[in-house]
Amino acid sequence: MSPTGTSSHHSKVLVLGSGPAGYTAAIYAARANLAPALVRGLQPGGQLTITTDVENYPGYEDTVQGPWLMEQMDRQATKVGTRMIDDSIVSVDLSRRPFVCVGDSGDSYTGDALIICTGAQARWLGLNSEKLFQGFGVSACATCDGFFFRDLHVAVIGGGNTAVEEAIFLTNFATKVTLIHRRDALRAEQMLQDRLFSNPKIAVLWNHVVEAIEGQEEPFKAVEGLRLRDVRSGAVTTLAVNGVFIAIGHTPNTAMFRGQLEMDDEGYIVTRPDSTRTSVAGIFAAGDVQDKIFRQAITAAGSGCMAALEAERFLAHESELAPARAAE
Ligand code: FAD
Ligand code: NAP
Repeated sequence: MSPTGTSSHHSKVLVLGSGPAGYTAAIYAARANLAPALVRGLQPGGQLTITTDVENYPGYEDTVQGPWLMEQMDRQATKVGTRMIDDSIVSVDLSRRPFVCVGDSGDSYTGDALIICTGAQARWLGLNSEKLFQGFGVSACATCDGFFFRDLHVAVIGGGNTAVEEAIFLTNFATKVTLIHRRDALRAEQMLQDRLFSNPKIAVLWNHVVEAIEGQEEPFKAVEGLRLRDVRSGAVTTLAVNGVFIAIGHTPNTAMFRGQLEMDDEGYIVTRPDSTRTSVAGIFAAGDVQDKIFRQAITAAGSGCMAALEAERFLAHESELAPARAAE
Protein backbone atom coordinates (compact mmCIF):
# COMPACT_ATOMS: atom_id res chain seq x y z
CA MET A 1 0.00 0.00 0.00
CA SER A 2 1.34 3.45 -0.79
CA PRO A 3 0.23 6.69 0.84
CA THR A 4 -2.97 7.53 -1.01
CA GLY A 5 -4.31 10.38 1.09
CA THR A 6 -4.68 13.98 0.14
CA SER A 7 -1.37 14.73 1.83
CA SER A 8 1.40 12.86 3.56
CA HIS A 9 3.10 13.85 6.82
CA HIS A 10 6.37 12.35 8.00
CA SER A 11 7.87 12.21 11.48
CA LYS A 12 10.73 10.26 12.98
CA VAL A 13 8.42 8.98 15.70
CA LEU A 14 4.72 8.58 15.04
CA VAL A 15 2.51 7.97 18.09
CA LEU A 16 -1.02 6.61 17.69
CA GLY A 17 -3.43 7.38 20.53
CA SER A 18 -3.87 10.18 23.06
CA GLY A 19 -4.35 8.34 26.34
CA PRO A 20 -1.76 8.35 29.14
CA ALA A 21 0.49 5.97 27.14
CA GLY A 22 0.46 8.06 23.96
CA TYR A 23 1.02 11.40 25.69
CA THR A 24 3.84 10.03 27.83
CA ALA A 25 5.52 8.45 24.80
CA ALA A 26 5.23 11.79 22.99
CA ILE A 27 6.66 13.77 25.93
CA TYR A 28 9.72 11.51 26.13
CA ALA A 29 10.20 11.42 22.33
CA ALA A 30 9.89 15.20 22.08
CA ARG A 31 12.39 15.73 24.88
CA ALA A 32 14.78 13.40 23.01
CA ASN A 33 14.58 15.81 20.03
CA LEU A 34 12.67 13.33 17.90
CA ALA A 35 9.88 15.81 17.00
CA PRO A 36 7.04 13.27 17.34
CA ALA A 37 3.63 13.53 15.75
CA LEU A 38 0.67 12.14 17.72
CA VAL A 39 -2.62 11.10 16.15
CA ARG A 40 -5.30 11.67 18.77
CA GLY A 41 -8.01 9.35 17.43
CA LEU A 42 -11.75 9.54 18.02
CA GLN A 43 -11.40 9.87 21.80
CA PRO A 44 -8.87 12.65 22.47
CA GLY A 45 -7.54 12.01 25.98
CA GLY A 46 -8.59 8.36 25.97
CA GLN A 47 -10.60 6.42 28.54
CA LEU A 48 -10.03 8.80 31.44
CA THR A 49 -12.14 11.41 29.67
CA ILE A 50 -15.24 9.33 30.43
CA THR A 51 -14.69 9.25 34.16
CA THR A 52 -14.93 11.85 36.90
CA ASP A 53 -12.75 11.47 40.01
CA VAL A 54 -9.24 10.10 39.65
CA GLU A 55 -7.56 9.51 43.00
CA ASN A 56 -4.74 7.13 42.17
CA TYR A 57 -2.65 9.03 39.65
CA PRO A 58 0.41 10.20 41.61
CA GLY A 59 1.30 13.86 41.91
CA TYR A 60 -2.01 15.28 43.12
CA GLU A 61 -2.91 15.54 46.77
CA ASP A 62 -6.53 16.31 45.92
CA THR A 63 -8.83 14.31 43.67
CA VAL A 64 -8.53 15.35 40.03
CA GLN A 65 -11.04 14.99 37.22
CA GLY A 66 -10.18 12.57 34.40
CA PRO A 67 -10.79 15.05 31.54
CA TRP A 68 -8.71 17.72 33.29
CA LEU A 69 -5.81 15.32 33.85
CA MET A 70 -5.80 14.37 30.18
CA GLU A 71 -5.97 17.99 29.06
CA GLN A 72 -2.88 18.66 31.16
CA MET A 73 -1.05 15.75 29.51
CA ASP A 74 -2.04 17.09 26.08
CA ARG A 75 -0.72 20.54 26.95
CA GLN A 76 2.52 19.17 28.35
CA ALA A 77 3.14 17.01 25.27
CA THR A 78 2.38 19.98 22.99
CA LYS A 79 4.60 22.33 24.96
CA VAL A 80 7.65 20.09 24.69
CA GLY A 81 7.25 19.83 20.92
CA THR A 82 4.69 17.22 19.88
CA ARG A 83 2.70 17.87 16.71
CA MET A 84 -0.92 16.99 17.51
CA ILE A 85 -3.06 15.57 14.72
CA ASP A 86 -6.82 15.19 14.90
CA ASP A 87 -7.46 12.12 12.82
CA SER A 88 -8.20 8.44 13.34
CA ILE A 89 -6.16 5.73 11.65
CA VAL A 90 -8.19 3.39 9.47
CA SER A 91 -5.49 1.34 7.72
CA VAL A 92 -1.76 0.72 8.00
CA ASP A 93 1.12 -0.74 6.03
CA LEU A 94 3.71 -2.06 8.44
CA SER A 95 5.56 -4.19 5.89
CA ARG A 96 8.36 -1.67 5.31
CA ARG A 97 9.78 1.51 6.72
CA PRO A 98 8.77 4.22 7.00
CA PHE A 99 5.55 2.72 8.35
CA VAL A 100 2.41 4.14 6.76
CA CYS A 101 -0.80 4.93 8.64
CA VAL A 102 -3.76 6.28 6.71
CA GLY A 103 -6.27 8.46 8.51
CA ASP A 104 -10.01 8.73 8.20
CA SER A 105 -9.40 12.16 6.63
CA GLY A 106 -7.54 10.53 3.74
CA ASP A 107 -4.20 11.95 4.88
CA SER A 108 -1.36 9.55 5.49
CA TYR A 109 1.20 9.65 8.28
CA THR A 110 4.58 7.98 8.05
CA GLY A 111 7.04 7.26 10.83
CA ASP A 112 10.55 5.81 11.01
CA ALA A 113 9.44 4.38 14.32
CA LEU A 114 5.85 3.77 15.35
CA ILE A 115 4.46 3.74 18.90
CA ILE A 116 0.99 2.20 19.13
CA CYS A 117 -1.07 3.40 22.12
CA THR A 118 -4.59 2.90 20.81
CA GLY A 119 -5.86 1.49 24.11
CA ALA A 120 -8.84 -0.71 24.77
CA GLN A 121 -12.50 -0.32 25.51
CA ALA A 122 -14.47 -1.92 28.28
CA ARG A 123 -17.37 -3.94 26.92
CA TRP A 124 -20.72 -2.72 28.18
CA LEU A 125 -24.09 -4.42 28.40
CA GLY A 126 -25.56 -1.91 25.96
CA LEU A 127 -28.45 -0.72 28.16
CA ASN A 128 -29.67 2.89 28.06
CA SER A 129 -29.78 2.95 31.85
CA GLU A 130 -26.17 1.77 31.98
CA LYS A 131 -25.15 4.83 29.95
CA LEU A 132 -27.32 7.11 32.08
CA PHE A 133 -25.57 6.13 35.32
CA GLN A 134 -22.04 5.67 33.96
CA GLY A 135 -19.73 7.50 36.40
CA PHE A 136 -22.63 7.77 38.89
CA GLY A 137 -22.65 4.24 40.25
CA VAL A 138 -21.93 2.31 37.06
CA SER A 139 -18.25 1.53 36.48
CA ALA A 140 -16.03 -0.83 34.53
CA CYS A 141 -13.03 -0.51 36.85
CA ALA A 142 -13.10 -1.62 40.49
CA THR A 143 -9.50 -0.55 41.09
CA CYS A 144 -10.47 2.95 39.98
CA ASP A 145 -13.87 3.35 41.62
CA GLY A 146 -14.18 0.72 44.38
CA PHE A 147 -13.09 3.24 46.97
CA PHE A 148 -16.30 5.24 46.41
CA PHE A 149 -18.46 2.33 47.62
CA ARG A 150 -17.32 2.06 51.23
CA ASP A 151 -19.95 0.35 53.43
CA LEU A 152 -22.34 -0.09 50.50
CA HIS A 153 -23.75 -3.04 48.52
CA VAL A 154 -22.44 -3.44 44.99
CA ALA A 155 -23.01 -5.89 42.15
CA VAL A 156 -20.44 -7.24 39.69
CA ILE A 157 -21.62 -8.52 36.32
CA GLY A 158 -19.63 -11.27 34.57
CA GLY A 159 -18.10 -14.67 35.23
CA GLY A 160 -14.50 -14.41 34.04
CA ASN A 161 -11.26 -13.74 35.90
CA THR A 162 -11.85 -10.00 35.87
CA ALA A 163 -15.32 -10.24 37.41
CA VAL A 164 -14.11 -12.57 40.15
CA GLU A 165 -11.01 -10.49 40.91
CA GLU A 166 -13.11 -7.31 40.99
CA ALA A 167 -15.68 -8.90 43.31
CA ILE A 168 -12.93 -9.98 45.73
CA PHE A 169 -11.23 -6.58 45.54
CA LEU A 170 -14.51 -4.77 46.21
CA THR A 171 -14.92 -6.57 49.54
CA ASN A 172 -12.16 -4.24 50.79
CA PHE A 173 -14.77 -1.48 50.73
CA ALA A 174 -18.30 -2.79 50.29
CA THR A 175 -20.29 -4.51 53.01
CA LYS A 176 -21.72 -6.91 50.44
CA VAL A 177 -20.85 -7.86 46.86
CA THR A 178 -23.25 -9.79 44.64
CA LEU A 179 -21.68 -11.39 41.59
CA ILE A 180 -24.30 -11.84 38.87
CA HIS A 181 -23.58 -14.29 36.06
CA ARG A 182 -25.68 -15.27 33.08
CA ARG A 183 -24.85 -18.98 33.37
CA ASP A 184 -24.48 -21.51 36.19
CA ALA A 185 -20.71 -21.85 35.94
CA LEU A 186 -17.88 -19.36 36.04
CA ARG A 187 -15.14 -19.31 33.46
CA ALA A 188 -12.68 -17.83 35.97
CA GLU A 189 -9.77 -20.06 37.00
CA GLN A 190 -10.38 -22.44 39.88
CA MET A 191 -8.07 -20.77 42.38
CA LEU A 192 -9.96 -17.49 42.01
CA GLN A 193 -13.30 -19.29 42.25
CA ASP A 194 -12.20 -20.90 45.52
CA ARG A 195 -11.33 -17.50 46.95
CA LEU A 196 -14.64 -16.09 45.73
CA PHE A 197 -16.80 -18.84 47.22
CA SER A 198 -15.00 -18.73 50.56
CA ASN A 199 -15.43 -14.98 50.98
CA PRO A 200 -18.35 -14.36 53.38
CA LYS A 201 -19.06 -10.92 51.91
CA ILE A 202 -19.74 -12.31 48.42
CA ALA A 203 -22.99 -13.84 47.16
CA VAL A 204 -23.33 -15.32 43.67
CA LEU A 205 -26.55 -15.02 41.68
CA TRP A 206 -26.53 -17.60 38.88
CA ASN A 207 -28.49 -17.55 35.60
CA HIS A 208 -29.47 -13.90 35.78
CA VAL A 209 -29.04 -11.02 33.38
CA VAL A 210 -29.48 -7.31 33.97
CA GLU A 211 -32.49 -5.82 32.23
CA ALA A 212 -32.08 -2.30 33.60
CA ILE A 213 -30.18 -0.25 36.13
CA GLU A 214 -32.53 1.74 38.29
CA GLY A 215 -31.92 4.85 40.35
CA GLN A 216 -32.69 8.44 41.06
CA GLU A 217 -31.81 11.24 38.65
CA GLU A 218 -32.66 14.26 40.84
CA PRO A 219 -31.22 16.08 42.71
CA PHE A 220 -28.19 13.98 41.69
CA LYS A 221 -27.80 10.71 39.85
CA ALA A 222 -27.39 7.61 42.01
CA VAL A 223 -27.87 3.90 41.38
CA GLU A 224 -30.46 2.26 43.64
CA GLY A 225 -30.99 -1.18 42.18
CA LEU A 226 -31.04 -3.65 39.31
CA ARG A 227 -33.93 -5.16 37.40
CA LEU A 228 -32.89 -8.75 36.79
CA ARG A 229 -34.27 -11.57 34.67
CA ASP A 230 -33.84 -15.24 35.46
CA VAL A 231 -32.79 -16.72 32.10
CA ARG A 232 -34.39 -20.10 32.89
CA SER A 233 -37.79 -19.07 34.27
CA GLY A 234 -38.06 -15.57 32.78
CA ALA A 235 -39.00 -14.23 36.23
CA VAL A 236 -38.15 -10.59 36.75
CA THR A 237 -36.93 -9.41 40.16
CA THR A 238 -35.16 -6.40 41.61
CA LEU A 239 -32.02 -6.24 43.72
CA ALA A 240 -31.19 -3.15 45.76
CA VAL A 241 -27.55 -2.10 45.15
CA ASN A 242 -25.63 1.18 45.30
CA GLY A 243 -23.20 0.43 42.50
CA VAL A 244 -22.65 -1.89 39.54
CA PHE A 245 -19.33 -3.02 38.11
CA ILE A 246 -19.56 -4.32 34.58
CA ALA A 247 -16.78 -6.88 34.07
CA ILE A 248 -17.65 -8.65 30.84
CA GLY A 249 -14.31 -8.14 29.11
CA HIS A 250 -12.40 -5.52 27.16
CA THR A 251 -11.74 -5.08 23.46
CA PRO A 252 -8.33 -3.74 22.41
CA ASN A 253 -8.37 -1.20 19.55
CA THR A 254 -6.22 -3.25 17.19
CA ALA A 255 -8.47 -4.14 14.23
CA MET A 256 -6.34 -2.15 11.77
CA PHE A 257 -3.15 -4.02 12.74
CA ARG A 258 -4.61 -7.50 12.29
CA GLY A 259 -2.38 -9.73 10.16
CA GLN A 260 0.53 -7.29 10.38
CA LEU A 261 1.53 -7.57 14.04
CA GLU A 262 1.57 -10.55 16.38
CA MET A 263 -1.49 -10.51 18.64
CA ASP A 264 -2.92 -12.90 21.21
CA ASP A 265 -6.27 -14.68 20.86
CA GLU A 266 -8.14 -11.65 22.17
CA GLY A 267 -6.44 -9.16 19.85
CA TYR A 268 -3.96 -7.64 22.34
CA ILE A 269 -0.62 -6.75 20.74
CA VAL A 270 2.11 -9.08 21.95
CA THR A 271 5.22 -7.32 23.27
CA ARG A 272 8.54 -8.89 24.22
CA PRO A 273 9.12 -9.51 27.95
CA ASP A 274 10.34 -6.40 29.83
CA SER A 275 9.93 -4.39 26.64
CA THR A 276 7.40 -2.65 24.41
CA ARG A 277 8.92 -4.17 21.25
CA THR A 278 6.37 -5.85 18.98
CA SER A 279 6.90 -8.53 16.34
CA VAL A 280 8.00 -5.84 13.83
CA ALA A 281 11.33 -4.04 14.40
CA GLY A 282 10.74 -0.31 14.91
CA ILE A 283 7.17 -0.73 16.15
CA PHE A 284 6.43 -0.45 19.86
CA ALA A 285 3.16 -0.85 21.74
CA ALA A 286 2.27 0.67 25.11
CA GLY A 287 -0.69 0.90 27.46
CA ASP A 288 -3.95 -1.01 27.43
CA VAL A 289 -3.48 -2.09 23.81
CA GLN A 290 -0.88 -4.60 25.07
CA ASP A 291 -1.87 -4.95 28.74
CA LYS A 292 -4.91 -6.92 29.84
CA ILE A 293 -3.76 -7.37 33.41
CA PHE A 294 -3.15 -3.96 35.03
CA ARG A 295 -5.13 -1.50 32.82
CA GLN A 296 -4.28 1.62 34.83
CA ALA A 297 -3.39 5.14 33.73
CA ILE A 298 -0.08 4.99 35.56
CA THR A 299 0.96 1.64 34.05
CA ALA A 300 -0.07 2.93 30.60
CA ALA A 301 2.02 6.07 31.15
CA GLY A 302 4.96 3.96 32.37
CA SER A 303 4.92 1.74 29.31
CA GLY A 304 4.55 4.84 27.08
CA CYS A 305 7.80 6.08 28.58
CA MET A 306 9.44 2.71 27.90
CA ALA A 307 8.23 2.77 24.28
CA ALA A 308 9.72 6.21 23.62
CA LEU A 309 13.05 5.21 25.15
CA GLU A 310 13.11 2.04 23.07
CA ALA A 311 12.15 3.95 19.90
CA GLU A 312 14.97 6.41 20.56
CA ARG A 313 17.48 3.58 20.95
CA PHE A 314 16.15 1.88 17.83
CA LEU A 315 16.54 5.05 15.72
CA ALA A 316 19.98 5.79 17.16
CA HIS A 317 21.12 2.26 16.32
CA GLU A 318 19.70 2.60 12.79
CA SER A 319 21.55 5.86 12.17
CA GLU A 320 24.80 4.30 13.39
CA LEU A 321 24.31 1.48 10.86
CA ALA A 322 23.28 3.77 7.98
CA PRO A 323 26.81 5.04 7.03
CA ALA A 324 28.13 1.48 7.14
CA ARG A 325 25.29 0.30 4.88
CA ALA A 326 25.88 3.20 2.46
CA ALA A 327 29.55 2.17 2.18
CA GLU A 328 28.70 -1.49 1.39
P1 FAD B 1 -6.65 4.85 26.28
O1 FAD B 1 -6.85 5.75 27.42
O2 FAD B 1 -7.59 3.73 26.04
O3 FAD B 1 -6.59 5.76 24.98
C1 FAD B 1 -6.55 5.20 23.70
C2 FAD B 1 -6.35 6.32 22.70
O4 FAD B 1 -6.16 5.73 21.41
C3 FAD B 1 -7.52 7.29 22.58
O5 FAD B 1 -7.01 8.60 22.56
C4 FAD B 1 -8.14 6.96 21.23
O6 FAD B 1 -8.69 8.11 20.59
C5 FAD B 1 -6.90 6.47 20.47
N1 FAD B 1 -7.21 5.61 19.35
C6 FAD B 1 -7.97 4.46 19.33
N2 FAD B 1 -8.06 4.00 18.07
C7 FAD B 1 -7.34 4.85 17.30
C8 FAD B 1 -7.08 4.92 15.90
N3 FAD B 1 -7.59 4.02 15.06
N4 FAD B 1 -6.31 5.94 15.43
C9 FAD B 1 -5.78 6.86 16.29
N5 FAD B 1 -6.00 6.84 17.61
C10 FAD B 1 -6.78 5.85 18.10
N6 FAD B 1 -7.15 4.18 35.54
C11 FAD B 1 -6.55 4.71 36.63
O7 FAD B 1 -5.35 4.59 36.80
N7 FAD B 1 -7.30 5.41 37.56
C12 FAD B 1 -8.63 5.64 37.41
O8 FAD B 1 -9.26 6.25 38.26
C13 FAD B 1 -9.27 5.11 36.25
N8 FAD B 1 -10.58 5.28 36.05
C14 FAD B 1 -11.16 4.77 34.92
C15 FAD B 1 -12.53 4.99 34.72
C16 FAD B 1 -13.14 4.51 33.58
C17 FAD B 1 -14.61 4.76 33.38
C18 FAD B 1 -12.37 3.77 32.61
C19 FAD B 1 -13.04 3.26 31.36
C20 FAD B 1 -11.04 3.54 32.81
C21 FAD B 1 -10.43 4.03 33.97
N9 FAD B 1 -9.07 3.81 34.22
C22 FAD B 1 -8.47 4.37 35.32
C23 FAD B 1 -8.25 3.02 33.29
C24 FAD B 1 -7.42 3.98 32.40
O9 FAD B 1 -8.29 4.94 31.88
C25 FAD B 1 -6.73 3.21 31.30
O10 FAD B 1 -5.94 2.19 31.85
C26 FAD B 1 -5.83 4.14 30.49
O11 FAD B 1 -6.57 5.22 29.98
C27 FAD B 1 -5.18 3.42 29.34
O12 FAD B 1 -4.41 4.34 28.66
P2 FAD B 1 -3.94 4.12 27.16
O13 FAD B 1 -3.06 5.28 26.87
O14 FAD B 1 -3.39 2.76 26.98
O15 FAD B 1 -5.23 4.16 26.24
P1 NAP C 1 -13.68 -13.01 29.76
O1 NAP C 1 -12.80 -14.10 30.22
O2 NAP C 1 -13.99 -12.89 28.31
O3 NAP C 1 -15.05 -13.18 30.58
C1 NAP C 1 -16.11 -12.34 30.31
C2 NAP C 1 -17.28 -12.79 31.19
O4 NAP C 1 -18.38 -11.90 30.98
C3 NAP C 1 -17.76 -14.20 30.87
O5 NAP C 1 -18.08 -14.88 32.05
C4 NAP C 1 -19.01 -13.94 30.01
O6 NAP C 1 -20.02 -14.90 30.19
C5 NAP C 1 -19.52 -12.65 30.58
N1 NAP C 1 -20.23 -11.86 29.58
C6 NAP C 1 -19.78 -11.49 28.35
N2 NAP C 1 -20.70 -10.74 27.73
C7 NAP C 1 -21.76 -10.64 28.58
C8 NAP C 1 -23.02 -9.99 28.53
N3 NAP C 1 -23.37 -9.27 27.45
N4 NAP C 1 -23.84 -10.10 29.57
C9 NAP C 1 -23.49 -10.79 30.68
N5 NAP C 1 -22.31 -11.42 30.80
C10 NAP C 1 -21.45 -11.35 29.77
O7 NAP C 1 -13.13 -11.56 30.20
P2 NAP C 1 -12.21 -11.14 31.43
O8 NAP C 1 -12.69 -11.78 32.68
O9 NAP C 1 -12.11 -9.67 31.36
O10 NAP C 1 -10.80 -11.77 31.05
C11 NAP C 1 -10.18 -11.41 29.80
C12 NAP C 1 -8.85 -12.11 29.70
O11 NAP C 1 -7.94 -11.58 30.65
C13 NAP C 1 -8.95 -13.61 29.97
O12 NAP C 1 -8.03 -14.25 29.16
C14 NAP C 1 -8.55 -13.72 31.40
O13 NAP C 1 -8.01 -14.98 31.72
C15 NAP C 1 -7.49 -12.61 31.50
N6 NAP C 1 -7.39 -12.14 32.87
C16 NAP C 1 -6.50 -12.78 33.68
C17 NAP C 1 -6.39 -12.39 35.00
C18 NAP C 1 -5.41 -13.13 35.86
O14 NAP C 1 -4.71 -13.98 35.34
N7 NAP C 1 -5.35 -12.86 37.14
C19 NAP C 1 -7.19 -11.37 35.51
C20 NAP C 1 -8.10 -10.75 34.67
C21 NAP C 1 -8.20 -11.16 33.35
P3 NAP C 1 -19.83 -16.40 29.65
O15 NAP C 1 -18.91 -17.07 30.62
O16 NAP C 1 -21.23 -16.93 29.70
O17 NAP C 1 -19.29 -16.29 28.27
